Amino acid sequence: MENVDYEQNNGNEYDFENRVVAPEYEAEDAEVENPLRPRTLSEYIGQEKVKENLSIFIEAAKQRKESLDHVLLYGPPGLGKTTLAGIIATELGVNLRITSGPAIEKPGDLAAILTNLSAGDVLFIDEVHRLSRSVEEILYPAMEDYALDIITGKGQMAASYHLPLPKFTLVGATTRAGQLSAPLRDRFGVVLRLELYTPQELARIVSRSAKILGIPIEADGALEIAGRSRGTPRIANRLLKRVRDFAQVISGGTITCESARIALDRLEVDSLGLDANDRRMLRALIKFYNGGPVGLETLAAAIGEEAVTIEDIYEPYLMQIGFLNRTPRGRCATAAAYEHLDLEFPGREGSEQQKLF
Ligand code: ADP
Repeated sequence: MENVDYEQNNGNEYDFENRVVAPEYEAEDAEVENPLRPRTLSEYIGQEKVKENLSIFIEAAKQRKESLDHVLLYGPPGLGKTTLAGIIATELGVNLRITSGPAIEKPGDLAAILTNLSAGDVLFIDEVHRLSRSVEEILYPAMEDYALDIITGKGQMAASYHLPLPKFTLVGATTRAGQLSAPLRDRFGVVLRLELYTPQELARIVSRSAKILGIPIEADGALEIAGRSRGTPRIANRLLKRVRDFAQVISGGTITCESARIALDRLEVDSLGLDANDRRMLRALIKFYNGGPVGLETLAAAIGEEAVTIEDIYEPYLMQIGFLNRTPRGRCATAAAYEHLDLEFPGREGSEQQKLF
């Protein structure tokens, strides 16, 4: 993948204050992110359904000597969407060009990128839901007919040009499929949803990363890190790097279960991967709103966070571990969340009454 063009806009829109369990890309990830990225589908751990589908589509496109249909990847940050785009390009034997929704400001920016592609190339647009309407309109004919429709001038001076483009594959990534406009969503032939990883899969990712970085690690050390990584490979790799420093001092360089536990406790990442922010949100939900239901916006205001941050960053994992429910009436903390925070679960009035009848 020598032809990777990193035009990505990595400026975080949220301020995570260097939160160690933030799934978003942070500057400290740069050192390890590239060497640790799997290059082929067989190196890519987990997401079995996604891999199976992709390998069939890739094989079919190669056999027909056609470009692969446009692919939409969606799921929380840090699960491997950019990595998959790279793998698709490698498996197809074509170039990868990387950009992001917010980085493409004007239709002309996108036109310049598209006219520079070669036949079969993969164009990866991260945060594709953040493209402006005028940019999206350039994208529709480009995706559908491999053409640019450009209008110059106004009134009588107006002229329209129809420029053919090379057949390319757009790989779009988004954390919020629901925010994609319908016409854009409809133009993706392949739509794949990435799931949070299981601790076992993350342990394999941690062991693989440790091997590449030359860090000795025991199997239960990898599992300890995995269990606190919130289902997210990017977090697992970051915690591995942090734990390495502790292991040097505590256990002679090898990451053991014990040294991992001490290190992660010091980093205030608890046994389930929750940090102070998650606990603060759950406590607010429990203390101020009796565990819910409470509307997302109200909860966001109570803890001084953006609603999208709560939805994209905190909630997927809290729901996966069964601490939070999204109901039509709002967010509710579950009995498991109370128990984890050492708070007494009052039981819901409704359910008590239901028990009587
Ligand atoms: P996203 O684009 O979804 O935010 P990335 O593709 O940048 O996530 O992945 C973040 C990091 O996690 C990558 O550097 C890569 O090393 C690691 N990673 C992601 N998915 C996998 C996987 N399935 N197997 C191994 N490592 C992975």
